[in-house]
Amino acid sequence: MHLDETLIRRLVITAANRVVAHTEELTALDQAIGDGDHGLNMKRGFEAVLGDIEKIAVLPMPQALQAVGTKLVMTVGGASGPLYGTLFLAFGKAMPPNPSRAEAIQAFASAIAAVQARGKSEPGQKTMLDVLAPVQAALAEGRPARTAAAEAAAATIPMRALRGRASFLGDRSIGHMDPGARSSQVIVDAILDVLEGAT
Ligand code: ADP
Ligand code: MG
Repeated sequence: MHLDETLIRRLVITAANRVVAHTEELTALDQAIGDGDHGLNMKRGFEAVLGDIEKIAVLPMPQALQAVGTKLVMTVGGASGPLYGTLFLAFGKAMPPNPSRAEAIQAFASAIAAVQARGKSEPGQKTMLDVLAPVQAALAEGRPARTAAAEAAAATIPMRALRGRASFLGDRSIGHMDPGARSSQVIVDAILDVLEGAT
């Protein structure tokens, strides 16, 4: 993979704009099974990332990812801030400067493991991990990641939340898509759009 400044800039801008465009949807999902702040939390964080784009885009990919993670930790807040921050920080730390596709997918696996450690969570508990882990598996196995993300986000609807605020609802968390799973799907789709040349 050739990760030049132009590509990093397009990845960051596209993902951030996509999150901001989904603010209301993420808010509505979090109103159903949380406290309704996920949309604004993510919007605030990714707008802060956009504000730093000139500094971020000139960095090598590992450092650019870590800069995004640091910014998200500082600005997103809630449960998802430290978790998304950890995802990007650990992704950057595990990423070689010029990764092969396989190395990038392996670094993504390390990042997911770091989120699990930070969140004391694992897939199956109705969280962002229920999209991130299946997407990583699809990439590793050469299956379409976009389809995996969509199916995985939808699969959180019948789940009972076992982590985060939604877990306080017990069985009443069933029947709604997890907000963090949906925001992960939004970010994954944006990254795939750029990598596949759709934007
Ligand atoms: P808060 O729950 O503090 O209001 P947000 O609304 O921004 O924070 O984020 C909620 C999302 O964070 C959930 O939908 C879920 O995907 C994710 N989340 C919460 N706790 C965990 C955890 N322990 N591990 C992984 N993801 C989690
Ligand atoms: Mg919330």
